[in-house]
Amino acid sequence: MLKIDIILPISLQPLTYLCPPELKDKAIIGMPVSVPLRNKTVYGVICDIDITDSKLTNLKEIISIIGNSPVLTKNHIELINWMSGYYHCEKGLILKSMIPDQILSAKILPAKRKNKLKKITFEKSPILSDYPTGHKQLELFKEIVSNHRYKTILVHCDSFIHQLSIIIELLSDVKNAIILCPEIEQAEYAGAVIEKMLNRRVLIVHSGLSLVKRIRTYNEIIDGKDIIVCGTLSASLVPLKNPSLFIVIDEHSPNYKQERHPRFNARDIMVRRGFMEGIAVILLSVSPSCVSYMNYQVGKYDFCDMTKVTLVQNLVIENMSGVRTTIKKDVFNILDKTIKDSRHALIYINKKGYSILRCRDCESVIECPKCESPLMFFADTTLRCNNCGFTKKAIANCPVCKGVTFDNIGSGIQRIERLINQKMRIIPVRLDSSLTMKEYNTAVKEALINPIVIATRLALNDKAFFGFFDHIIYLNPDIHFTFADYLSNERLYQEVRTLCGMLKDSGKIHIQTRFPRNPIFTTLRKRDYPSFAINEINKRNELSYPPFSKMASLVFYYNGQTFPFEIPEKMDDVSILGPITVYFNRKGYSRSIKIILKSKDRNSLNQAIINMKKSADESKVCIDIEIDP
Ligand SMILES: [Zn+2]
Ligand SMILES: [Zn+2]
Repeated sequence: MLKIDIILPISLQPLTYLCPPELKDKAIIGMPVSVPLRNKTVYGVICDIDITDSKLTNLKEIISIIGNSPVLTKNHIELINWMSGYYHCEKGLILKSMIPDQILSAKILPAKRKNKLKKITFEKSPILSDYPTGHKQLELFKEIVSNHRYKTILVHCDSFIHQLSIIIELLSDVKNAIILCPEIEQAEYAGAVIEKMLNRRVLIVHSGLSLVKRIRTYNEIIDGKDIIVCGTLSASLVPLKNPSLFIVIDEHSPNYKQERHPRFNARDIMVRRGFMEGIAVILLSVSPSCVSYMNYQVGKYDFCDMTKVTLVQNLVIENMSGVRTTIKKDVFNILDKTIKDSRHALIYINKKGYSILRCRDCESVIECPKCESPLMFFADTTLRCNNCGFTKKAIANCPVCKGVTFDNIGSGIQRIERLINQKMRIIPVRLDSSLTMKEYNTAVKEALINPIVIATRLALNDKAFFGFFDHIIYLNPDIHFTFADYLSNERLYQEVRTLCGMLKDSGKIHIQTRFPRNPIFTTLRKRDYPSFAINEINKRNELSYPPFSKMASLVFYYNGQTFPFEIPEKMDDVSILGPITVYFNRKGYSRSIKIILKSKDRNSLNQAIINMKKSADESKVCIDIEIDP
């Protein structure tokens, strides 16, 4: 009898079964099957077939082969194999992310309701005609796409709308394609625009789909011809056959990293899949990631700058050295004028809550009892920890000296709201994560008719504000300089570029900083992205950060006072940083620690991870592995 390997959508590697002779003809790689497992019937996919006649008799036989055609192609199986090795993840869990279980068991669905068409407004970016070589570049891209050979092109764009305009041009001759967006809202908007402009079927895929919708969508993808999939990171794994183009919008976005196991990077998956399928991959961004730019520099990707060459200086540095107020006086003048001229200004601040509290008597900062980070005070009189999520009602006395007077240290968005209110006698519209979805949507509508809006990151990519503001004031960019994270400069650059997308063409962004001469601001003002990227890449090379070294972050969850096995300080060619105590929650475990593994060599890193996994398994410690953290 044939031996066949089956991937089941559970946390396991493939299992081997025998194929009874009567099912032999239907046994093809990618076919869904039902098999017995621990006295139950479970559903999976054939991933390998061994044609040598088997003498093994202790294997069970598969029960049935479902349907008439495979749900996955050989390339999809190859992708599962590759991801399993690269991300140290069971193949079963990757299958589960790739296809809903219900499709494997051919679940029957209720009859379909008619879809309502969404109303959208979309104005194509004028930049395509403004930019002198725009059309030439597009023709070149189209030629590359129609060649059906693998190539990744990194494209530097001006805005989300600019990216969408390029996509519409590129899709005109393409049958099957996947387009990734960092956020659900953007995916829905992009999908609606493509449907309207090209009159094509677009399937939206994201984690918020209802089960029935998800099954229906995936069924259509598996059968599909002429299908465009538009979605967030989970769309990078959809089992689309014969794709001819993959596109990633805002390829630099941290949202492409899956937060839970399997922790993959959707942009990297698209590039890998493009290579496996032998097709073009287009990475678009208003501020490309330095890793992608470096891939261009070493010849792995092509690069194309499609930003409009402009002499307009729309970035103003407000030097804050020696200034003691939270908002500079010049900025108040700008806000005053904005109100007078009935224009629109956004005050952007990357901090939730009101402020940190410090005891006036003993000068101690109120800290989180769990992890010792400073607690943030909120206007609803709670104290919250941004590090571990601890929350409690505000206190009346200092826990150290019982003092009763506190000073506010630093400013969150709620304190800025109050300051604006006091100084200017107006109530600005506030957009932050303290609002419910409904409140947020109402606030966005108000923001469009009010002169002053204050917002955190939450509003950064809201399509309501693309090209909307006359002034944007970025209050606290300097917090990026206090992070020990090697990506923080890159994040700041991307944040400012994204904010620029919310400006009118004639608009200005004002950056309040104590480090006006930091090269990051110089390159931003000159719109000189290559200089910025090369500078960052050189710094990472000196300090041997990724991509010059390979990294993995390992979190161990355990119970008891002491960690059950010893973590070495070094393993062959792999340095180990930590362990440090972290405060992540996981059911059944009370403690967690984290280590970082770093190596020049991917194989040594993989071996070290395998060894750590073995030690953890032996000591009943749960391990969470993140590659390229
Ligand atoms: Zn005190
Ligand atoms: Zn805490």
